[in-house]
Amino acid sequence: MQADVRQVADGIHLVHGSNTNWVILTEGDEITLVDTGYPGDREQVLASLTAVGAPEAVAAVLITHAHNDHLGCTEYLRSTYGTPVYLHEAEVPHARREFLHQVTVGQVLRNSWRPGVLPWSVHALRSGGTAHVPVAAPEPFPAAGPLDLPGRPVPVHTPGHTDGHAAFHLPDAGVLISGDALVTGHPTSRLTGPQLLPDMFHHERARAVASLDVLAALDGDLLLPGHGPAHRGPVREAALQAKERAL
Ligand SMILES: [Zn+2]
Ligand SMILES: [Zn+2]
Repeated sequence: MQADVRQVADGIHLVHGSNTNWVILTEGDEITLVDTGYPGDREQVLASLTAVGAPEAVAAVLITHAHNDHLGCTEYLRSTYGTPVYLHEAEVPHARREFLHQVTVGQVLRNSWRPGVLPWSVHALRSGGTAHVPVAAPEPFPAAGPLDLPGRPVPVHTPGHTDGHAAFHLPDAGVLISGDALVTGHPTSRLTGPQLLPDMFHHERARAVASLDVLAALDGDLLLPGHGPAHRGPVREAALQAKERAL
């Protein structure tokens, strides 16, 4: 299967999966993979890694948050290749599925009159959006500050969408990998450009809005979101635009 892999900067690749993005950072032969798509995206995840290197070259999988569309293939990679899996400490029990803070089928049905929600939900179900995909051995980030991995990503705690959501800042490259704390589009949204996801997707929407201020304090001019296209322009302005639209 072909994967939609786009090199957006030196050693930085944005991959558009079936409905979710993931990011591949390379340094020499080594790879950092940020997020792993839906469970049903496995062939695309493997193809994207093969396009820039090899699945066994992944030094670590970093997860922005433990929703099924970002965590889907994580346990497969961990159990197949022995790849370590890191998340914010508040997200580790979520990845183990000690609890699940994800939009429920009932919430989706109550929102099914909204444009785009029904086709999105059909795709989500087919892709394993409600599958049980716990990670057996997720670990908290091993240190504060930049991680000793390809791309030197710096985790930035951005709670609200989930309690332990983390964005990843690449200060030298001027790149922000924002996960679902800040997106640029979604099948259930009519907006284009920087925005928060629709309300039903957030565990605590007010905290998600507040986390936009955290992102607005970061330097960078390339935003790689969990959903929607890459956005070029100051990260600060993108975060503030999303905040304005959310208020
Ligand atoms: Zn999410
Ligand atoms: Zn998502």
